[in-house]
Amino acid sequence: MAKVLIIGAGGVGSVVAHKCAQVPEVFKEICLASRTLSRCEEIARQLPRKIRTAQVDADNIPQTVALMRAFKPQLLINVALPYQDLNLMEACLEAGVNYLDTANYEPPDTAKFEYSWQWAYHDRFKDAGLMALLGSGFDPGVTSVYCTYGLKHYFDSIDTIDIIDCNAGSHGQPFATNFNPEINIREVTARGRYYQDGKWVETDPLSVRRRFNLPENLGKLNVYLMYHEELESLVRHIPGIKRARFWMSFSDNYLKHLEVLQNVGMTRIDPVPFQGQEIVPLKFLKALLPDPASLGPLTKGKTCIGCQLRGVKDGRRRTIYIYNICDHEACYREVKSHAISYTTGVPAMVGAKMMLTGKWRGEGVFNMEQFDPDPFIAALDKHGLPTQVFEGEVFR
Ligand code: NDP
Repeated sequence: MAKVLIIGAGGVGSVVAHKCAQVPEVFKEICLASRTLSRCEEIARQLPRKIRTAQVDADNIPQTVALMRAFKPQLLINVALPYQDLNLMEACLEAGVNYLDTANYEPPDTAKFEYSWQWAYHDRFKDAGLMALLGSGFDPGVTSVYCTYGLKHYFDSIDTIDIIDCNAGSHGQPFATNFNPEINIREVTARGRYYQDGKWVETDPLSVRRRFNLPENLGKLNVYLMYHEELESLVRHIPGIKRARFWMSFSDNYLKHLEVLQNVGMTRIDPVPFQGQEIVPLKFLKALLPDPASLGPLTKGKTCIGCQLRGVKDGRRRTIYIYNICDHEACYREVKSHAISYTTGVPAMVGAKMMLTGKWRGEGVFNMEQFDPDPFIAALDKHGLPTQVFEGEVFR
């Protein structure tokens, strides 16, 4: 039984707080801290049991260390923004606390993400006898575990991975993002990249498109090739990969709005002088767009996120598709969030449970695919994200 500190009271933080509160046998005491205290208090009021709340600026290392020294958690779950990752890892080292996040570090002034900055902490966490688990959301996170689950139970070796992230639901708003708008738009407007035969191949943003027929009659959607962080770690940790790609669905309406916003400069991340002060257009746009957490009661339909894996078993070629389908309205009924926050928050809680129960143990900095997938998949099933496996090809 442990104490856990959750930092970030946004859409994902709310789900993590709900799900941790549902498992008192592991999460004995919970503290939810964020930049805006009132958001923590609002979430705390929705929970079935009492938790602590606190105000913290996660970019202020001494402040975070002081909070941890007072509360004494075994684990910090970082569901603030990727900009905070390194400061929170520093704070954990100073306070002697284990660390978990769902998205890798991004420098605020460059739209770029990669694991190098966080992997560089490996020796310091190891020397301190602490564990940091990176990317325990759905993608990265569950998708990474689907790959090792496939490797363990269905293949002798995997040669291609296609991660396909689809949202077949709708919130009915003209334009809104399902998670933090700033992070979402930075990711979507970046150049595409995939791994092929030992090299990274770059593509223009959203220039490669396929039609994907979703399972369970969820319809057909356009999916677009993008770069996503788990590609970097999967290629490093799963031997023999020849090709790894990531695809995400976007509606024509979303892409039309995004194109216009880009064309008029509203997605820029550099400061622009405006009436005697400097503003960053994308940050201003975030202030105008609906808060992703507010989309919960409006969103209907389902998400479907999974991996198509190809490889060899007992000398024969084999293809499987491992996936989860999640219903937006069912999530809202359970934890007052749509499925995008739910599919991120549940794996964050499950990753924390793996660490705190010792099922996943290590000293240093780790990615999800470095551990036994079985207890994680079993816990996902138990806590609301069941895994399904289809034998055969669904995507080309
Ligand atoms: P939100 O913008 O809804 O929430 C972020 C929260 O972090 C807000 O409450 C915000 O505070 C708080 N915060 C921001 N800066 C600070 C700071 N300096 N100190 C303390 N708190 C801070 O984002 P989401 O909940 O949608 O996303 C959370 C994380 O989850 C992101 O890192 C995102 O990239 C990741 N994610 C991962 C996915 C995956 O599958 N792996 C999928 C989706 C998201 P305030 O309320 O004051 O603004």
